[in-house]
Amino acid sequence: MEASAVDEADAIEVTGLAKRYGAVVALDGINLAVRSGEVFGLLGHNGAGKTTTIRILTGRTRPTAGTARVHGLDAVADREAVRRLVNLVFEDQNLYERLTGRENLRVFCRLYGVPLDRADALLESVDLAEAGRRKVKTYSTGMRQRLLIARSLVNQPRVLFLDEPTRGLDPVSTRTLHDLLRGLAADGTTIFLTTHDMLEADVLCDRVAFLSEGRVVALDVPRELKLRFGERRARVLLSSRVEHVIALDDADDAARLEAWMGSGQVLAVHSLEGTLADAFVAFAGRPLDHPGSGSDGDGA
Ligand code: ATP
Repeated sequence: MEASAVDEADAIEVTGLAKRYGAVVALDGINLAVRSGEVFGLLGHNGAGKTTTIRILTGRTRPTAGTARVHGLDAVADREAVRRLVNLVFEDQNLYERLTGRENLRVFCRLYGVPLDRADALLESVDLAEAGRRKVKTYSTGMRQRLLIARSLVNQPRVLFLDEPTRGLDPVSTRTLHDLLRGLAADGTTIFLTTHDMLEADVLCDRVAFLSEGRVVALDVPRELKLRFGERRARVLLSSRVEHVIALDDADDAARLEAWMGSGQVLAVHSLEGTLADAFVAFAGRPLDHPGSGSDGDGA
């Protein structure tokens, strides 16, 4: 892709982005564009280059080649301006355990030079208004994660990067966090996250990119990726409680279904559309949760 005029709607524009660490190729020339207010998911095995991408986009690592732009600003040349536009939530970030949630946020309000009462509004927005008076050491994992997100919003970022935001959270906390992220996106904040969780990517992300060994091997809305690799089949449950699997493209199967329908025998029809995990395997060659996905010597 040539360096075209920056699309006003694009929050992120990455072109030919490459990063090498000595002999290790972390990113091998990736292209992607993320629209403003989109929830965008980057999926890939350990070592695929997800963190490197985020580090470059937030001005923390310099690329070896290519460009990364945030709202038209270059992540290298306009690094300071980019850093003011974005924020990030990483797993290894620390909270002040002996301070309350509110005090934690007020520290960051001072740091960014924003009015201290913003802390209360942020606590409210992540449903920690009450808990904000308690010390962080009493918080659950889900509450800590919400507080980290609130903290990342102190500078009102236009793009928020999150590395594995729901890792270690129970289903209820995960759902709360998804709602929170979707709400932020609806208000115009672009959400760029990494995840290992295919179901999360499916329900949460507007579009996803599959990253494999430093390359973007697919990028689309989850439904399109699933359709491309799903099986065009359906499971039909009849009133006799017998189940049949039919091929949607098969004329004989279509006739059978018509006959069952005509005689009122059909109780339920379930599409056997593919999963995002199926699509990932098709593009990346091995599952995301493959036991060997963390080891470098797992090639073949
Ligand atoms: P994970 O899911 O494990 O976090 P990732 O997709 O975020 O993986 P990166 O952390 O971006 O992957 O790493 C991509 C590759 O670059 C890996 O092979 C990693 O070992 C290598 N790498 C990353 N940072 C450095 C560094 N500072 N020095 C040397 N190699 C590095």
